[in-house]
Amino acid sequence: MPPLFLSRRALLQSSAAVAAGAAVGGLATGAPAQAARPDIGVSAYPFPLGAVALLPGPFADNTARTHAYLKFLDADRLLHMFRVTVGIASSATACGGWESPSTELRGHSMGHVLSALAQAYASTGDTAFKAKSDYLVTSLAACQDRATAAGFNAGYLSAFPESFIDRVEARQQVWAPYYTLHKTIAGLLDAYRLTGSALALAVLQRKAAWVALRNSRLTYAQRQNMLDTEFGGMAETLTNLYQLTDNPAHLTTAQYFDHAEIFDPLAANTDALANYHANTQIPKALAAIREYHATGTTRYRDIAVNFWTMVVNRHSYAIGANSNGEYFKAPGRIAGELSDTTAECCNSYNMLKLTRQLFFTTPGRADLFDFHEKALFNHLLGAQNPASAHGFHSYYTPLRAGGIKAYSNDYDDFTCCHGTGMETNTKHGDSIYFVNGDTLWVNLFIASVLTWPGRSITVRQDTTFPQAGTTRLTVTGSGTIDLRVRVPAWAAGATIRVNGALQPAPAPGGYAAISRTWTSGDTVDITLPMALTRESTPDNSAVQAVKVGPIVLAGQYGTSNLSGLPTLTASTLTATADPLRYTATASTGQVTLLPFYQTHGQRYSVYWTVNDTPPPVPFVAHYPFDEGSGTTAADATGNGRTATLAGGATWTTGRTGNAVNLTGTGAYVQLPPGLLAGATAFTAACWVRLDAVTAWTRIFDFGSGTGVNMFLTPRSSSGFPRYAITTGGAGAEQRIDGTSALTAGVWTHLAVTQTGNLGVLYVNGAEVARNTSLTTRPAALGATTSNRLGRSQYAGDPTLDAALDGFRVYARALTAAEVASLHSTGS
Ligand SMILES: [Zn+2]
Repeated sequence: MPPLFLSRRALLQSSAAVAAGAAVGGLATGAPAQAARPDIGVSAYPFPLGAVALLPGPFADNTARTHAYLKFLDADRLLHMFRVTVGIASSATACGGWESPSTELRGHSMGHVLSALAQAYASTGDTAFKAKSDYLVTSLAACQDRATAAGFNAGYLSAFPESFIDRVEARQQVWAPYYTLHKTIAGLLDAYRLTGSALALAVLQRKAAWVALRNSRLTYAQRQNMLDTEFGGMAETLTNLYQLTDNPAHLTTAQYFDHAEIFDPLAANTDALANYHANTQIPKALAAIREYHATGTTRYRDIAVNFWTMVVNRHSYAIGANSNGEYFKAPGRIAGELSDTTAECCNSYNMLKLTRQLFFTTPGRADLFDFHEKALFNHLLGAQNPASAHGFHSYYTPLRAGGIKAYSNDYDDFTCCHGTGMETNTKHGDSIYFVNGDTLWVNLFIASVLTWPGRSITVRQDTTFPQAGTTRLTVTGSGTIDLRVRVPAWAAGATIRVNGALQPAPAPGGYAAISRTWTSGDTVDITLPMALTRESTPDNSAVQAVKVGPIVLAGQYGTSNLSGLPTLTASTLTATADPLRYTATASTGQVTLLPFYQTHGQRYSVYWTVNDTPPPVPFVAHYPFDEGSGTTAADATGNGRTATLAGGATWTTGRTGNAVNLTGTGAYVQLPPGLLAGATAFTAACWVRLDAVTAWTRIFDFGSGTGVNMFLTPRSSSGFPRYAITTGGAGAEQRIDGTSALTAGVWTHLAVTQTGNLGVLYVNGAEVARNTSLTTRPAALGATTSNRLGRSQYAGDPTLDAALDGFRVYARALTAAEVASLHSTGS
């Protein structure tokens, strides 16, 4: 939300939420999760932090620097204003920056430090972290005990006086008191969950009772007014506390922070995010998914899912980050929003937490961790300064050409992002592996060892990713594991070997499933080809970022500032011996491109003006059609090719989740132009439930009128399905004809692939027909302007009467095994 006043604070205002995040809580030191209430609607679970050890690599390096800082920090300096506020003598030197005695946000870092210490202890078992946490908790308890003597309500605990709450309730000028209080309660919760501090829980419960007191006596309208001021993850943490304790008072208090002005449009899948303070809103969506897990109310889930989809597809930069000057802008406005104050780090920290919670709910969705990987590797991994032994952290990540990363310091910065940076870099083991029974998901390619609690099994992951698109899993111990490895949408195919033997690989944008009884020494080798691609911005197709696989490269500009985007001659991009190092010619001269996450201490350009169309990416577009409301369908590849429901198209129950419903009366789905521009090979695949098998209707039809098009009809004049491609009208069509009629009323998987002169038509994962004489390639059609599902280029053809689900377009021919995987997994 915009602040009440416009000042420097408006620019500095920001937020974050807590570490929380576990669908099931529990002590990382080995005790099983002990949540009083199981989460509803969850089918994947995290391992405790202590079960995952990082092996040498950039994530372990970041973690080591933050661990060193946590040990260095003087607890009494952090406690100084908490003590002063309740009249406890303190001779410590006050902290500076956002923790200075005159800054209204003072005290927020305490919660970050508590969460980071808890995570560091849970990950390593190093008692130095627990000892410092215990000292902080004991000292905070002493401050809380002095609340009434200091003139505050019982349970109040803060580094500023309770009058700040009077001011936020009265809509008077004040920064963000509940945001700050949230940090402390989240830190106390982590101290309880991860270090076992009963005192932390007691302090937290007293503070939660104080929150209930302050809010229960307000009217609904008063509370909703107050929620215009940033309040962080109050609802999320109180919901987590409800799940841990089963005390319904905490859920009631959490729901006082349900902000109707934000929730109502999200529930209707309306993107009204423009001009709202970004990181004020992300914790609200995070609270919503936790409130779904606590209550089962699907409206909360829809709010969170819709928010995630909007932010990822319409409000995020190529590095996975969002916000300019901390605010969301109009949907799709990216090239027009490149500045020195883009990409606040807290926002990505919170988006990753939200993504992780959504994964617990829908672990079959590979696009969730495709995004997680994008924002983690391109933004947060590179937000810490590797030249700092204490892990100094960025606040904004400038994305204007000529920008340079700036970092925090020991005691005179304490921005919000310095705080969330401590949390991020103490939990890199928390999202690599997930579990449900015997099912083990491998979501991130980070060198690590999983020691499976309760089973005599370890899984070691050796990888230099992203330096190479390979990883090896080695199992020690024996037993059944239903292994699921994410095959990212960015991969140009995948190769999977178990003990050297080739396995069927799924289509990218899904999970490889390898279910077997494993024995010690078994290995899984995964190779994911990383193609050089370029990502256009939605608002200006000439503004592009250069990527290798998921990794964004940045031009290295040393001390040279830039007055505008350099123009890159894309044809000059030249690989070097280092797979992530390229050279190229730009309007500024010769330039070296390196991974953005490795770009430090010099000016750079992430975006370029490029005067030609990017080559097709391997996975062009994917429409799961799960929205269920509104008229837009998100592209789950992350390429931003949003589709539009037109002509009265509606929603219905899908093969999985929802589907788009076409009724044969003019409804269709409009896809963006130029989908397969430049592609010499392709695949189109989808699930269809035909309600009528009508001749010359269309599953898809990509073209620029009746002369130039490629289409799949469920029924041609032969009575069977047909794929055709032409640049010379119907008379020049090259075709693949099916050999049996499709059936109405059942879900059927259809796919067509083309590479070289070979085209293959698949029905339900099996080849039914092929043509080895296809000489017309998609590229020959140019940038087609009329790309539709359910509607022909010919105005006289009937429109489709069917439900469509999971429509996918690749700029490569999927293998028979990949097509079969789409059918067998229901993807
Ligand atoms: Zn921040």
